[in-house]
Amino acid sequence: MIIYQKVKFDAAHRLFGYQGSCNNLHGHVWVVEVWIDGDQLDSCGMLMDYRSIKQYFKDLYDHMLILYKEDPLVEVLQYMVPITVLDSNPTAENLAVKIKQDLKAFKVRIHESEDNFAEV
Ligand SMILES: [Zn+2]
Repeated sequence: MIIYQKVKFDAAHRLFGYQGSCNNLHGHVWVVEVWIDGDQLDSCGMLMDYRSIKQYFKDLYDHMLILYKEDPLVEVLQYMVPITVLDSNPTAENLAVKIKQDLKAFKVRIHESEDNFAEV
């Protein structure tokens, strides 16, 4: 069995060390599609509560600044704005990997814009 959830959230990031404009702080309306598979339903007959998927994104990413742990902006901004710190540069690819691991998802597709996505 597979369940699917689509989530949108606003968040800023920058690609640390990138030679180009994505090294500047900028924001996206991120769209994430999550597929979760499994055979075990809980006592309510759910594979996973859709609300818990949405809550994960609300808690970790919505209206947050997403930065790489080695980015010096973490130290500068950590007491001023809510930051989610990643072990890797916050590319769509790395975010997709983290989300897949965190949610134990079967597949994750993440769109930074309507013209592209990364999938894992
Ligand atoms: Zn970006």
